Amino acid sequence: MEFNNKVSEVLKSPLTASGLQSLQVNVGYICNMSCKHCHVAAGPNRSEIMKKDTVDQILDVLKKHDIRTLDVTGGAPEMNPYFPYLVTEARKAGCHVIVRSNLTIFFEKGFEQIPEFYREHDIEISASLPYYLASSVDRVRGNGTFEKSIKAIQLLNGTGYGDGSGIRKLNLVYNPSGAFLAPDQKRLEEEYRRELKARHGISFDHLFVFSNMPIGRFRNHLEKTRTLSSYLEKLEQAFNPATLDGLMCRHLINVGWDGALYDCDFNQVLALHMHESCPQHIRDFDFVRLLKREMHVGDHCYGCAAGQGST
Ligand code: SF4
Repeated sequence: MEFNNKVSEVLKSPLTASGLQSLQVNVGYICNMSCKHCHVAAGPNRSEIMKKDTVDQILDVLKKHDIRTLDVTGGAPEMNPYFPYLVTEARKAGCHVIVRSNLTIFFEKGFEQIPEFYREHDIEISASLPYYLASSVDRVRGNGTFEKSIKAIQLLNGTGYGDGSGIRKLNLVYNPSGAFLAPDQKRLEEEYRRELKARHGISFDHLFVFSNMPIGRFRNHLEKTRTLSSYLEKLEQAFNPATLDGLMCRHLINVGWDGALYDCDFNQVLALHMHESCPQHIRDFDFVRLLKREMHVGDHCYGCAAGQGST
């Protein structure tokens, strides 16, 4: 069954926004890594990058409206030259800032000051760590990634991140390493906590467990291994109506590197723009209209609503 029909069956209406608490901003697809599970297919050769006039339009929206959180993503967001400016100004405007960091960027030339920058501005960090064993992480993200990630977390722990106080939050993100659904979040979080402490002496605040979305590089992999239709079936069979309230598109809007607006990061990758009655670019931002919008959904949305949900 198509996702929109499934939603209508449960909600008796299409999927609509239920708030606008966050602006999720993708500042570009350039990255120092090329992870297999990356849904935006980021990498060192990508040239899409947000320019200063778009950053200024975002800051303008944050200053004028009651949007409490800026969620910055990429690629490696730190590689955008206006990243420090965006973060610093958003903090001055009173926003809570979350950055999706790959952690390995801390060891690239010219980015060594990033952990201190995060500490200084009380930035919440969300970092991918697909497992607590080196072999699983390096298979998905490249050789040596696990070791660098652990070193980065040790650095962050040393500056007060991940101590559970809730002041400098460090969250880790798990993705399955193949075409299977994510396990129970609470159980896996306990396992991560125990194993990472015992093996590497590190700590973190929360573990977020996400299923892989059937888009980008992962979709290519599914097509190549002829497992796309069985994976899509698996997601549909695991549809959980209880996830609908928390779907991220219902609480945020996503801004692409060129200022285009989307319901979420996944729709951005698929170039599924917002409903045509909505503003299409950050310069035309209209809080009231966006708050009433209907989502542009597709079958990939089953990835967000399977099992315990993935947003
Ligand atoms: S893919 Fe995007 S639009 Fe679809 S349910 Fe997930 S967050 Fe919402």
